[in-house]
Order: sequence, then structure tokens, then C-alpha cells
Amino acid sequence: MADIVIIGAGPAGMSAAIYARRAGMSTVVYEASMYGGQIVNTPEVENYPAIQKISGFDFATNLYDQMTNLGAELRMEPVVAIEGDAANGFKVRSEYSSEDAKAVIIATGAKNRQMGIDGEERLTGHGISYCATCDGAFFKGQDVAVFGGGNTAVEDALYLANMCNKVFLIHRRNEFRAENALVEQARANDKIEIITPKIVTGLKGEDKLTAISLTDMADGREQMIDVAALFVAIGQVPAAAPFAALVAQENGYIVAGEDCRTSAEGIFVAGDGRTKNVRQLTTAAADGAVAALAACDFVRANR
Ligand code: NAP
Repeated sequence: MADIVIIGAGPAGMSAAIYARRAGMSTVVYEASMYGGQIVNTPEVENYPAIQKISGFDFATNLYDQMTNLGAELRMEPVVAIEGDAANGFKVRSEYSSEDAKAVIIATGAKNRQMGIDGEERLTGHGISYCATCDGAFFKGQDVAVFGGGNTAVEDALYLANMCNKVFLIHRRNEFRAENALVEQARANDKIEIITPKIVTGLKGEDKLTAISLTDMADGREQMIDVAALFVAIGQVPAAAPFAALVAQENGYIVAGEDCRTSAEGIFVAGDGRTKNVRQLTTAAADGAVAALAACDFVRANR
């Protein structure tokens, strides 16, 4: 039995593991895919206090090293359910194993929102990508598009402009949600053409993407542009569905205040999957600390 099981090895989950281990708790962390969560898709992090600039991958790897050097055990297995309760203890079940726990921290965050248009699934990996840092290099010297208006989309466009011939940045409104500084950089970049207010409504190509159709949000007119790739960056949706029966949720987010306590005693939530206003690296790390310390108190009180 572990004192604390953490589900999700993004910045929130790994920060929680660091705090839990430093408090002397035996700690098992489950992760469905690669450690790091969404941050590994970010080319450069420039707004984490005291770090001038670091790639998302290096940031995640530093957290991973810190967590494992402190003795947290990482299991690369998707969790399918949490059973039990505070009085009798919990059992966290993955597809391959299970672990008993005195307290659980859910840090499963969010996953990429899909466009929901014909051909999206078929062409994913064949021109459609949700990760510019992972796949951008495949399209060196070619024309590509980025869809979205947040920090991720604008950062992706700037990153791709370093290697691609041309980058179309498509957003559904004329104003961007992304930070002004980033938008100004994109506007000043000769390789980036900003196209608003438009959405992607069609995909052309059998084995690989060759063109996308756009619909104007103002007058409904359609246009087609030839691109070798479309990088979709239209935000995230929470990934807490497996826990819906156990903890109260709102629009898919697990309901909890700044104390990270869910509706179920002994279960805590940290990071982007929690109901909150600001979803940033700094707030994910802060949640990890708060949730871990609350879980430690709970374990000590119930020993
Ligand atoms: P986001 O901030 O939620 O932005 C999503 C964008 O996609 C918005 O512009 C939104 O349009 C658009 N969108 C949403 N649903 C859409 C749909 N169905 N069709 C078309 N467009 C749609 O997501 P994000 O850019 O991935 O960022 C997520 C969080 O991470 C944010 O808090 C962001 O600040 C943070 N982040 C920070 C950094 C950094 O600080 N270095 C880097 C990346 C991300 P509207 O604007 O019209 O709603």
C-alpha cells in the first residue's frame, strides 16, 4: 500500500510527488503516456518565475528527475478507476495493475480539443498535428497552418516560422486571447500570415493533408488554402471522465477550491483539471504543493 497515489505526471502531479516524498510519504505516480503533460508541447517557457527561458521538454525532465531522485515510483499505465473510500482506503486501478492508497491526488489535467470535422481522425499523423514541437520539423520548407488564438497557437506559429516556408495563423476572432507580446511578434514576422475571423471547416487529402477550407465568421464565405500540415491549438478539455462517479464535476472539471479538496474525503485534485480561473505552469505547480500537503495531513490524521 502506498501512502499517496498520484494520477497524472504533468507539472501538477510531479510537483505533488516532490512534496509528498519530501514529507516522507510512500508515493506512486501513474501516467498514461509521456511524463510532462501539455508542457512538453511548448517550445519555450519564459514565464516561470526565476527561470529566464527553458524548453517545455527540459522543464518536464527536470521535474521528472527531481521526483524520481526523491524516490517517487512512476508507473506508465492508464488509470481506469478509483475504488473505496476514506474510511476503508482507496484502490487505484490501472489497465495493468492496482495500488492501495491512503489518499489520492488526481492530476490528470486536460487533453487537446479536437475540431470535430470530417477527416480529422484519419489525417491525424498525416498532416494534422496537435504538437508543433513534436512534428514541426517534418514540414521544413513547406507551407503550414496553425488554428487557434491562444498562447499555444501563437507560440506554435512563431516556432514553425523558424523552419517552414509560410505559416497561416487562423483564428475565429479578430482579437487574440494570447498575450500581446506574442501577438506582436507574430504580426512582425514576415513568414506568418494572420487570417481572421475564420474557422477551419474542411480538410482535403486522402493519404495526407493537402489543403484546408476556411469559413469566414462574418460573412460565411469559404476559401481553400494549400498546406502540408495543420497544427490544431484550440485549447483543451478536461480529462477527468473516469472519476465522474466519485468526485463532483462541473463541465468536466473536478470541483475544488484553492485547498484542492474534492467532494470525496481523501481525494484531492491538482492542476488544469480543477475548477479555477488561471491555468498556468505556476498554478499547476502551486496546486501540486497544496494538494500534496493536504494529502499528507489526511494520511497522518488517519494512520
Ligand atoms: P486557450 O488559451 O484556451 O486558447 C484556445 C484558443 O482556441 C482560443 O483562442 C479560442 O478562441 C480557440 N478555440 C476554442 N475552441 C475553439 C473551437 N471550437 N474552434 C475554434 N477555435 C476555438 O488554449 P491554449 O492556447 O492551449 O492555452 C491553454 C493555457 O495554457 C492558457 O492558460 C495559456 O495561457 C497557457 N499557456 C501558456 C503558455 C506560456 O505561458 N508560455 C504557453 C502555452 C499555453 P477564443 O479566443 O475565441 O475563445
